[in-house]
Amino acid sequence: MLGIMQDRPLLISSIITHAERFHSETAIVSRRVEGDLHRTDWGTVAKRAKRMAGALDTLAIAPGSRVATLAWNGYRHLETYFGVSGSQRVLHTLNPRLSPQQLTWIVNHAGDEVVCFDTTFLPLMEAVCDQCPTVKHWVAYAAEDQLPATTKIKNLLSYEALLEASSEVYEWPIFDEQSASSMCYTSGTTGNPKGVLYSHRSTIIHALAAGLPDTLNLSARDSVLPVVPMFHVNAWGIPYTAALVGCKLVFPGPAMDGQSVYDLIEGEGVTMAAGVPTVWQMLLAHMDKEGKRFSTLKRTVIGGSACPPAMYDRFVDQFGVQVLHAWGMTEMSPLGTVGVLKNQSGDPQTQRTQLLKQGRPVFGVDMKIVDDAGQTQAWDGKATGNLLVRGPWILSDYYESGHGSPLVDGWFPTGDVATIDPQGFMQITDRSKDVIKSGGEWISSIDIENIAMAFPGVMMAACIGVPHPKWDERPIIVVVRKPDTDVDKAALLASYEGKVAKWQTPDDVVFVEAIPLGATGKMQKMVLREQLKDYQLPNT
Ligand code: AMP
Repeated sequence: MLGIMQDRPLLISSIITHAERFHSETAIVSRRVEGDLHRTDWGTVAKRAKRMAGALDTLAIAPGSRVATLAWNGYRHLETYFGVSGSQRVLHTLNPRLSPQQLTWIVNHAGDEVVCFDTTFLPLMEAVCDQCPTVKHWVAYAAEDQLPATTKIKNLLSYEALLEASSEVYEWPIFDEQSASSMCYTSGTTGNPKGVLYSHRSTIIHALAAGLPDTLNLSARDSVLPVVPMFHVNAWGIPYTAALVGCKLVFPGPAMDGQSVYDLIEGEGVTMAAGVPTVWQMLLAHMDKEGKRFSTLKRTVIGGSACPPAMYDRFVDQFGVQVLHAWGMTEMSPLGTVGVLKNQSGDPQTQRTQLLKQGRPVFGVDMKIVDDAGQTQAWDGKATGNLLVRGPWILSDYYESGHGSPLVDGWFPTGDVATIDPQGFMQITDRSKDVIKSGGEWISSIDIENIAMAFPGVMMAACIGVPHPKWDERPIIVVVRKPDTDVDKAALLASYEGKVAKWQTPDDVVFVEAIPLGATGKMQKMVLREQLKDYQLPNT
């Protein structure tokens, strides 16, 4: 027997409509690439999102077409989020930290038809525009009179002019909630990035769960600063949850240094801020130097990489700010677990140990740990295993990857190795996937190794991550030389230029006699990392 409730699809347009109706005067504050602090509100964002949707109609962009953004966190990016997805197109957020070659590959693979970008990225767009045949329109987030006098980009459009020519009277279409709403590429171990395609349904359910008290605990009374970029898994879904609860949003634009972030927190009464450890490292260093304290900040979400215990102590003990240590993935929209106690019993030391784990699953995320043979491991806080997840906001396949679904019996293997304790708190102990995360951004070790392997005199090369105080992890390349051959360290490092983004270049070359290999001849990175555990990066 079927239920007899109304069959209203879960659509992203419903969130912005709610924010427009009930929170229209709530502020949206953005530091812009122009350098100023811009103020608007949910009502205006909603109206401009409708103008954006109408402008896409005028440009004849069909439902399902991909509209990309290359932009920092700000109100225009937010309007594009809702204007694109709400009108049944697919929002594709591009990561400006990638190299022009990587970006070109991603734009072509996604088949983007429109690219909207912050004017600071004009040189990057000019570098790739000739190699992106699917792109019909390039749109600069600028007024008509701010467009460059000359540019390589043919028919460069002004976002403001497009909006002006469009009407704010627009009816959001109703369609299947399983339709794609947005996409985000993540770095793959095979070298080529992989596209994750979210749906309206997955986005709304995730947004609802993210707002819960034991998740991000967001309400209309909050002022939220997502330092995590909107091109990283939709800023962890915060724009959607923020519209849903009607909270104030504060966007840092391109300025993520300690002073800029601190000034925004204090100036805009921020109560909750979210970002990767590297960002908080810079903020805390600034506060140390200037002897500053927080006056409004209550919670900080730390995720993307493990929260260092010293960082936890500074926020909690020194500043009285709650740390929400969260774990998730692009493939998971991204929320998987959040560290919130079930009750306040236990001594502070036990609580600290618990909260430094990656947290317990949010409702909607089912998880298990298994050994290499697929046998489920005990939840005793000791047994480690490969972490697998499933749920309504977790991917079932990558976008046109050509490799088939990554699921194993319906479960997605995360590539993380973890323990789960009897209370359900998960702790990451290692990573089985062959990637390195530096400052919240992925580096594919295979790409780095292939470049080294092509260098004269290199017999074998392994790229591994080593701890770094600011960037969490930095890549180094471990090299076995061919017999009787010398390899010049500086020349090898110089050979990365132009092949990968500058920050993806290894920090050092370490020469060894042999790299440990497993029974199948595969490099054993875990063993290698253990062998090099006393290695210290130069200048740290
Ligand atoms: P991404 O898809 O870029 O969001 O990266 C997801 C991956 O980042 C996870 O599979 C983990 O390897 C890592 N990660 C995310 N959050 C944490 C965390 N709190 N602690 C440790 N690793 C994390």
